[in-house]
Parts: sequence; structure tokens; C-alpha cells
Amino acid sequence: MSENEKPAEKTQERRRMVRLPTGGTAAGRSVGTKIKTAKDKRPSSQAWIKRQLTDKWSERARAEGWRSRAAFKLIEIDNRFNLIKKGSRVIDLGAAPGGWVQVCLDRGAQEVAGVDLLMIEPIPGAHLIQADFTEPGVDQQLIDALGGRPDLVLSDMAHNTIGHRQTDHLKIIALIEIAADFAIRTLKPGGNFVSKNFQGGDAGGVLARLREEFETVKYFKPESSRKDSAEVFLVALNKK
Ligand code: SAM
Repeated sequence: MSENEKPAEKTQERRRMVRLPTGGTAAGRSVGTKIKTAKDKRPSSQAWIKRQLTDKWSERARAEGWRSRAAFKLIEIDNRFNLIKKGSRVIDLGAAPGGWVQVCLDRGAQEVAGVDLLMIEPIPGAHLIQADFTEPGVDQQLIDALGGRPDLVLSDMAHNTIGHRQTDHLKIIALIEIAADFAIRTLKPGGNFVSKNFQGGDAGGVLARLREEFETVKYFKPESSRKDSAEVFLVALNKK
């Protein structure tokens, strides 16, 4: 399978082999999940609804049975860096609604443990915990659920922004640091780490630490990440 292959082709081929139930509707939402409606008159909500309905990645996610458009970001990251191997053991931080978990299982991961503040509808083969990852003990719960140390730690954790630049910035960096610290403590030698990050954010401290602990550290912006978003992913390869 070539590195330049389009995710759609790769995905469709793999999804013919394994079809994972989403536990929800065709849109990947659980029955009863509260969704925004046009009755919500706030311009920001209306813009969100329009974007979700017209966004090509959201449409593809619905059509292909992924729970979130975020699934395509991990597909692109994995196509580029080949992180999810057959038999991999993966921990997914900030996993709801479960798109990345689906991708890991679809690509042959043996064990996947995920955590989120929000409840995640069950996904066969995954261990899903509802908790705040920053709370003491949740890290150990994940290792116990996985049954040992991971080969791959993923973090797509994002807090709800409050609109105060400095505060939001500090919260973003705090989540990256906590995820990186967990990856450094728990990954097997040779293991890999991926974390959501934001361009312009000063992740200098955590970057320096990752460069000490991993052989290679790169930034990657997937095509499926919104162009107008500062989102970028940190990819740390080969834990020393
Ligand atoms: N990767 C997911 C997927 O493929 O479906 C999407 C993740 S979404 C962008 C970010 C998630 O991070 C949210 O569901 C949010 O609840 C979660 N999150 C933020 N802070 C968290 C924390 N402290 N502990 C656990 N989850 C957290």
C-alpha cells in the first residue's frame, strides 16, 4: 500500500474487510444524543450546523460509518507514519465519540483503551472509560484496561474554549503536557505518540522533552483538518 495512496481508497478497501458497528445512527450518533437544531438562533450555532451539513469530511464520515470526521485525520497520520500495526496496543486520550478508536481497530490494533469526559457508545473490542484524564488514577485505569504498556498513545484531547486567549492557551498546553508525560512514562521502547497541538501555541517545553525522549518529532497538518483552524498534530516516533 503506497504512502501517497488517497485515504478514501485505503479506507474503503479496509472497510470492506471489517465492518464495525457504530452503536448509533448512520451519522454515528447514538440514539437520543442531543444535537443542535435550527431552532438555536445564535449565529455561531447556525454556522456550526451549516458547516457540519456541508463539510465534505463530515459527509464522508456519515457515508462510511465513521463516528466523527476526526477519523480521517488519524487515517492520514497513519498513512504517512505507519503507526498502527497489526497487534498494536493503543491508548486514545479524548476518544469521544470514537472515530479514532474505530480507525485503530479497523487497521488491526489488538487492544484499544480510550478515555473521555463524555460517555462513548460501546465499540466492540475497545475498552472505553468515562473520566477526566487529568484526575489521579485514570492513567493506571487505562493501563489496566489495556492489560499492559501501549505501543501507541494518541491524544486528540481538546477543552471547550472560553474565548480568553491566555487561559485557553494555558489549557491547551496543559493537556499536551499531561498526554506527553503519560506517553513518556508508559510507552514501550520504540513506541509512538501523537498529540493534537495548535500552531502559534508555545509548546516549547514539551517539544524539548519529546525530542529528548523520542528519536524523531514532527508536525503534521492533515488535509482533513480545517484549513482555517490552527490545529496541527505533533508526531513523536521511536521512544528511546
Ligand atoms: N478523536 C475523537 C474522535 O475521533 O472521535 C475526537 C476527539 S474531540 C476532538 C476531543 C475530546 O477531548 C472531547 O470529546 C473532549 O470531551 C475530550 N477531552 C477534553 N479534555 C479531556 C480530559 N481532561 N479528559 C478526557 N477527555 C477530554
